[in-house]
Amino acid sequence: MSARIISGVDVANEIRKEIKRDVENLKSRFNITPGLVTIIVGNNPASVSYVTAKQKTAKDLGFYSIQENLPEKVSKIELLSLIEKYNKDEKIHGILVQLPLPHHINEKEIIYTIDPNKDVDGFHPVNMGRLVIGEALFYPCTPYGIQQLLIKNNIETEGAEVVVLGRSNIVGKPIAMMLCQKAKGANATVTICHTGTKNLTVHTKRADILIVALGSPKAITADMVKEGAVVIDVGVNRIGTTPEGKARLCGDVDFESVKEKVSAITPVPGGVGPMTITMLMLNTLNAAKKSVEG
Ligand code: NAP
Repeated sequence: MSARIISGVDVANEIRKEIKRDVENLKSRFNITPGLVTIIVGNNPASVSYVTAKQKTAKDLGFYSIQENLPEKVSKIELLSLIEKYNKDEKIHGILVQLPLPHHINEKEIIYTIDPNKDVDGFHPVNMGRLVIGEALFYPCTPYGIQQLLIKNNIETEGAEVVVLGRSNIVGKPIAMMLCQKAKGANATVTICHTGTKNLTVHTKRADILIVALGSPKAITADMVKEGAVVIDVGVNRIGTTPEGKARLCGDVDFESVKEKVSAITPVPGGVGPMTITMLMLNTLNAAKKSVEG
């Protein structure tokens, strides 16, 4: 059996079309254009490419978008005051500070300064707390993208054994919390694994849906998954360069062997990645809509 390939590109395109239509409606009915500011400190190549892609998508969708490029040595005070400025700016509905930040800046302090109503990355503790109690204002973009991939591909989570590999605050913990909610597109039995887990394979082998966010190239092999499972590979690992000089990527799952055993799997690239940016746009659109509703 060869698995169905879950295309994040297709689902992302479908959602982007809906966003574009909503942006036009918002403009014509309320004269409001969703506004997104992306702030980058320094010029880490991966961060620059993520922010460039976010800005391009925002523009393509008709958003008002601003990019702030700050030098590597910018002071914490300067960064905080820039965030305060956009917290007050009515034209801006979403503020994204690209992580990681240089070591002299405390990331937590930066995230905590963003107005939770403009926290379109969903990392502010208010938004994390709301997510846990099932009253999310914004879902963090990657977990939100994973859940939408499951829903749009008619993959049943209700009653499913979901095993999440990784407990980061941006992927593992939030997706686990989202999928155990008593709600549509959730209601799963969720297990979270990490480096303290005694026997990883015992857990991976009983997963109906395996979500892998380890940051370890091709760590999950065919012998570790259950026949017919659904595998969502969140990992993005750079493993060299292509002849054209682009980064060569692979996931945390050994795609070639695992796809022969499971029923559905996301590729890397082209799986979760395109969904993450799309969900950032959806969060920004929803923040703009909320500003109309009050
Ligand atoms: P992270 O903060 O490095 O967390 C990795 C998690 O995996 C940790 O909880 C760690 O456990 C666990 N882990 C690592 N190796 C393990 C092992 N051998 N056995 C068991 N657990 C292990 O990573 P992240 O930020 O969640 O990102 C994970 C991957 O997803 C990365 O490749 C990243 O680039 C990718 N990513 C992709 C997107 C996207 O849009 N596609 C977005 C975000 C992240 P401990 O907690 O015990 O250390």
